[in-house]
Amino acid sequence: MGRLLAVLAVLSLLGFFGLLLVEQQMIRAVLPFTPAAGGSPRPPSAGGEVSSPAGGDRGTTREGTGEEAKAALLSAKAETCDDERVLVDGSHRLPSAYAPEDLVSLPGNDVPTLGGRELLLRREAAEHLGALVSAAAADSEELVVASAFRSYDDQRLTYGRLKSIYGAGADSMSAPPGHSQHQLGTAVDFTNAGAAYQVKRRFGYTSASLWLQHHATEHGFVLAYPPGGAESGYRWEPWHYRYVGVENAERLERSGLTLQRFLARVGVTPHC
Ligand SMILES: [Zn+2]
Repeated sequence: MGRLLAVLAVLSLLGFFGLLLVEQQMIRAVLPFTPAAGGSPRPPSAGGEVSSPAGGDRGTTREGTGEEAKAALLSAKAETCDDERVLVDGSHRLPSAYAPEDLVSLPGNDVPTLGGRELLLRREAAEHLGALVSAAAADSEELVVASAFRSYDDQRLTYGRLKSIYGAGADSMSAPPGHSQHQLGTAVDFTNAGAAYQVKRRFGYTSASLWLQHHATEHGFVLAYPPGGAESGYRWEPWHYRYVGVENAERLERSGLTLQRFLARVGVTPHC
């Protein structure tokens, strides 16, 4: 009798672990993310010098459908859009009323701006940006900020203007309102003399751009739309960097994922 009970106990334990295994497989099947490693980056020269009348940053993407949408359902909701890891793209939209409350002026923190015009950035991002720009200058690299925070209304006006001129083509130049990382107050567009002080792909061929590739992470900034992101529907935007904090930037670098995939995996979607 005792032996029978022992056999039954072993069988039930095996059954329990079997179920656990099945459940894990199901979870893996639902979670679609795989590192974006591999795949050759689209040659930066492919599109030539594509100007960006609105400062680029389309935010449009083919992600957000199918597997990505399933993941979005699984992901946690951010209590506030102030979270540095909030995913903003063609499928994830910021509310029209959202604007960060800790915006500070640039130039400030020794950050040069294009034409010395006043731009706004969240305080922590601005402080780290100041350190980044100073470190670049110490290495004789010039970085000038052409664009920083853009409000929902700014984006609406810009997008509307482009739409009236280019129609559907506007989507390749500017993100619709609510879908721009610039509304977060943590994204900046760089330029310099090598790029004729314009926001263009030409910036990607400057030594300052190369310097950023090696040092931006140390200051918490990441290239949001790298050349390797073609598979996710993003164009290369060598001028556009987003502050996500040093720890997140380093985790992102180690992951080999694109920013969008990394943020989707972290699972902080706008809910504010
Ligand atoms: Zn930008």
